[in-house]
Amino acid sequence: MSTPSSLAGLAYWVKTFGCQMNFHEAERVSGLLDAHGLLPVTTAEEADVCIFMTCCVREKADTHLAGQVSAMASAPAPPSGRRTVAIGGCIAQRDAENVRIAMPRADLAFGTQAIPKLPELIARSRATKPGRILVDVEEPYDAFSTDLPQHRANAWRAWVPIMYGCNNFCTYCIVPYVRGRERSRTAADILAEIGRVRATGAREVYLLGQNVNSYGHDLEGQPTFAELLREVARTGVDRVRFTSSHPKDLTVGTLEAMAEEPAIMPHLHLAAQSGSDRILAAMGRRYRKADYLALAREAHARVPGLALTTDLIVGFPGETEADFQATLDLVDEADLQGAYTFIYSKRAGTKAAEMPDQVPSEVAHERLERLAEAVQRVSAKAHRALVGTHVEVLVEGASKRGGEVLMGHSPENYTVHFPKPKGVAVEELTGAIVDVDVEEARSFYVQGKIAGEAR
Ligand code: SF4
Repeated sequence: MSTPSSLAGLAYWVKTFGCQMNFHEAERVSGLLDAHGLLPVTTAEEADVCIFMTCCVREKADTHLAGQVSAMASAPAPPSGRRTVAIGGCIAQRDAENVRIAMPRADLAFGTQAIPKLPELIARSRATKPGRILVDVEEPYDAFSTDLPQHRANAWRAWVPIMYGCNNFCTYCIVPYVRGRERSRTAADILAEIGRVRATGAREVYLLGQNVNSYGHDLEGQPTFAELLREVARTGVDRVRFTSSHPKDLTVGTLEAMAEEPAIMPHLHLAAQSGSDRILAAMGRRYRKADYLALAREAHARVPGLALTTDLIVGFPGETEADFQATLDLVDEADLQGAYTFIYSKRAGTKAAEMPDQVPSEVAHERLERLAEAVQRVSAKAHRALVGTHVEVLVEGASKRGGEVLMGHSPENYTVHFPKPKGVAVEELTGAIVDVDVEEARSFYVQGKIAGEAR
């Protein structure tokens, strides 16, 4: 029978769909496989072990995944003669039976809590006859995978989960069913991890949780989220960011920490989802539009130079043109600097999936277009306001426009492009902080030129 040690030398490839938590878990999977002697490769065709870290928040991701997994069946055999296809993350956790039916090419389905067992599961799967799918989706939600090795995609940034799960049960959302109730990590555990990632080059720490503002509520004697933020900022890390924030739990203390601790970046992503009180109530969000606008005003007043961004959903069941108009109005009224816009995605098992008056797809698409125009207007305005200013950028590498143009983000999380200085390799500047004079605003980024030395 194969053992995890028999995996040494096999090539692996990991593909990630979905949110930052998924990216973080993919880094844990990679770290664990590295520790067992597997070797990362950059294409599925070269890999003996292909791992798909899945997301079940949107239906489109499901369909996309099934297509990619079935394509594995016709791919040439890898060096070892056998390719193991493993489905991890939320889709496997939610419905392993469906993985069996929709993805017959899969050899293994492992849930969000089974990551520590992955090498053993791969070894067991490879020891059985092809065509049988091995499933491990137990739900011991008390286990954390944070002490596993981690293979960070970028040395300069570390995703650090501070809590798992969610208690909110928004009526459209599958997350609480898949990831369970809120469980916070202790502050000592989080700070120890931040010490380790700093020692290995992280300059930016991204604190993750489905609802970071309710951090610590489930544990005795832990700091509040605002206090934790301050402690993290004082570790000496250059940049601290966090996501996601639920408006009903955002505190003045958090805004004060953002205003007072220079390492906490002045960017707040606060999901509004809708501007209609009727739809917010149907979504189970537990705030009204006026509450959101008051929070937005307070955040802008307390945090100098804040960029406020949000998520907005169109086409929620029962959404009328008047409800949609209220969402359009919110884009201007909340003084937003950007937003992610989505069409409501019906997820089986949620309350909203059973609601009457599902909005026809063509109506939802037409609303999405109008909303995207409104969002583009406010982000273009925010970008124009940067022209003539000087921003600090953490360099992330070459832009999609090619290696002669580098990119990174400003403290407010604006995307900044600038020409690579002559004679300097991309790798030399990646992970450095540089000053950029902003000269031009584009729809999705600003561009300028480096001023001064990298640090
Ligand atoms: S806060 Fe609502 S939308 Fe966010 S993860 Fe929890 S249930 Fe889902």
